[in-house]
Amino acid sequence: MINIAQRLQSAYADIKEIARKHHRDENSVDLLAVSKTKPLELIVDAYQQGHRKFGENYAVEAAEKVEQLKDYKDIEWHFIGPIQSNKTRLLCDSFDWVHSIDRQKIAQRLNDQRSDQLSPMNVLIQVNVDNEEAKAGVSLDEVAALANAIAQMPKLKLRGIMAIPQKTQDPEQQNLAFSRLHDCFSQLKTQYTDIDTLSMGMTADLDAAIAQGSTMVRLGTAIFGARES
Ligand SMILES: *Cc1c(COP(=O)(O)O)cnc(C)c1O
Repeated sequence: MINIAQRLQSAYADIKEIARKHHRDENSVDLLAVSKTKPLELIVDAYQQGHRKFGENYAVEAAEKVEQLKDYKDIEWHFIGPIQSNKTRLLCDSFDWVHSIDRQKIAQRLNDQRSDQLSPMNVLIQVNVDNEEAKAGVSLDEVAALANAIAQMPKLKLRGIMAIPQKTQDPEQQNLAFSRLHDCFSQLKTQYTDIDTLSMGMTADLDAAIAQGSTMVRLGTAIFGARES
């Protein structure tokens, strides 16, 4: 049995400690608890500990969970997985945030399908910072054009960028990727008013991500335990 309370507390404490170590405000880094493939009970456990921000990767699974937990009205749901265009309506109905916008077509569909009853969808552009073939996201030099397109869409609110850099144990390489992302984020900030979110850092590269200015880390394994795959 995993003790969610204990794992959450230690994740919060680690994040604060790393932030202080890098001379940042200890409350400047948000924690997104990535609950993909995990049962509702564990999400409810985390909720009862006061946690409110959850990330999911698979649209159908996620929409079911959101529906089943609809009485927990103040959960903030973040979609962080690859997006197929036939799933945009599900995302529109279920999520508050989408981190993985990687093409104009998807942004347009989300904008067109988002209900007027709901506030605009908060969106991040996913950046494929190492230009990996198998990974979703636009390259750094395509961010400006996609941001410009999203800025014209009234039912979307562009909040920043998200990335999953290439896996490496080398802290220097981690720092390099994250600092390039931070430059991109800073550039966007000068152009658009609502930019405040730099979603980067997972269990294995938390320190470098926070050192380079992450405002939201996404932790799955550290909180909910390993996933079966
Ligand atoms: C699964 C996932 C995470 C969490 O990864 P862990 O290694 O379990 O912390 C974070 N971000 C994205 C986009 C993911 O798909």
